[in-house]
Amino acid sequence: MNQTISIIIPVYNEEATLSPLHESLTSTLTTTSYDYEIIFVDDGSWDASFKRLEQLAQQDSHVKAIQFTRNYGQTTAIAAGIDHAKGDIVIFMDADLQNDPTDIPAMLAKLEEGYDVVSGWRADRQDTWLTRTLPSQLANGLISKVTGVHLHDYGCTLKAYRREVLTGYKLYGEMHRFLPAYAASVGARIVEMPVKHHPRRYGQSKYGLERILKVMLDLLTVKFLHKYGQKPLYLFGSVGAALIFLSILTVLYLILDKMVQGTYMITSPLLLLSVMLFIIGVQSIFIGLIGELLVRTYHESQDKATYTIRRHLNLHKQ
Ligand code: UDP
Ligand code: MG
Repeated sequence: MNQTISIIIPVYNEEATLSPLHESLTSTLTTTSYDYEIIFVDDGSWDASFKRLEQLAQQDSHVKAIQFTRNYGQTTAIAAGIDHAKGDIVIFMDADLQNDPTDIPAMLAKLEEGYDVVSGWRADRQDTWLTRTLPSQLANGLISKVTGVHLHDYGCTLKAYRREVLTGYKLYGEMHRFLPAYAASVGARIVEMPVKHHPRRYGQSKYGLERILKVMLDLLTVKFLHKYGQKPLYLFGSVGAALIFLSILTVLYLILDKMVQGTYMITSPLLLLSVMLFIIGVQSIFIGLIGELLVRTYHESQDKATYTIRRHLNLHKQ
């Protein structure tokens, strides 16, 4: 049986590009040997986007559409697309024609070679340098360093995934861009591929510079969850232990000072410091223990596995 591709496209006020995008996707996808579906997720558009989608869905049964009740954001739109996708391969792209469907066959070829993720890289990016390309380059450098997954372009939507490496990951905030890092954390083989990029010719970009701060905060969450998501006590407990150790050192110094110089402890600000370090240290350990309770509630209340399986043989449980 042919493998199926699900193309997932978030749409927010992109009425002008939907028909040309559908046309160019169709002419590319029909040349491949895959079955395909195109899932448009209308993220609360107030222009004629959904009307266009209704027309497209009527003409072409490959087209599927979801309409949100309000604007939830690109990440949530992508998450809804994943939830409804039937494909063995999932490909994300923007609706604004900045990504080019003709890159898809080369991406599929990479997946056939055995990679699990093909990450598009806008090597020749067509956006304003100062407000777009530069911040994005800095962010990519930082994300690569922090996650240890070195990609040039986390922000490029055009990426292809084998479905297995996407399951079990819920998306919040601006987190769709961290999907490659998540996939890597469950053992996916990732390859980067330069893709075409066009200037935005219709409509407007939906983002400003405030996105940078959100992405940085998300990065913190991703790093924390990846490293300590299953063992929060390792982080909070170590910090707590370090603080208590410092507090003990401070007290020892005060005792020594008292014995040698006869200084009254109460006259030194260090006494207050050591008490504070001690209290914060103990609290940090307790916060870690509450974290441990939360992890257990999270995994056990939903029967969530703490691992991801690539394949299994002669086992019936899916
Ligand atoms: N988008 C969305 N919801 C939003 C903002 C954007 O679904 O709240 C979609 C938008 O229609 C486009 C994609 O996300 O298909 C990328 O948005 P945009 O082109 O504005 O981002 P940029 O390319 O400027 O980074
Ligand atoms: Mg764009």
